[in-house]
Amino acid sequence: MRKIKLQEKNREYYVCKIACVGKNYLEHAKELGDAVPEKPVIFIKPSSSIIFSGEKIIYPEFSNSLHYETELVLLIGKTGKKISKQSALNYIAGYAVGLDMTLRDLQSEAKRLGHPWTISKCFDTSTVLSEFVSAEKIDNPNSLEIKLWVNNQLKQDDNTSNMIYSVEEIIEYLSFYFTLEEGDLVFTGTPKGVGEVKVGDKLVAEIPKVGRLETEVIK
Ligand code: MG
Repeated sequence: MRKIKLQEKNREYYVCKIACVGKNYLEHAKELGDAVPEKPVIFIKPSSSIIFSGEKIIYPEFSNSLHYETELVLLIGKTGKKISKQSALNYIAGYAVGLDMTLRDLQSEAKRLGHPWTISKCFDTSTVLSEFVSAEKIDNPNSLEIKLWVNNQLKQDDNTSNMIYSVEEIIEYLSFYFTLEEGDLVFTGTPKGVGEVKVGDKLVAEIPKVGRLETEVIK
């Protein structure tokens, strides 16, 4: 079990599941050479994959292609099913910036075989989180700058306004199929500019007003 602290509120949440949206930015779907999905692409990561800013990503020995994906992360504050778009924001307790680290070689092989992506997304240290800011501090989660630097070079620089499915639409879609519980996290997809990292690389991700994280890739 991993715990999330919401600073301003002095509240803690136990993370249950991490629901993720794939290919939620048009330019990112294109750079992967994938068709733009007609419906959101959804997968789940386990809470055992979580590390926090300051901790390190361990490069798995079973891969040769570790990619970063910088994403806006939602913390679900109350349990709900079939949540409407109109009420979706009431279910969010906080926001963070996160990295959905991905083993692109294993993922491409899984796609080719029509298999689930599980191993490429669920390995230990594959989910990196900043601190969470209370939801009241963020007026519009669909209009936030999102950036990532690798070794001080800007690699991802976009805005959540370019998401194909908005935060509200994602919550409505996910909760139609399964219950979102207090403490669940939602990764909303990565913008264009994904790429590989090597052992020794230092990553900094930031969504101004929301959060900032720092990590490093080690063996
Ligand atoms: Mg992702």
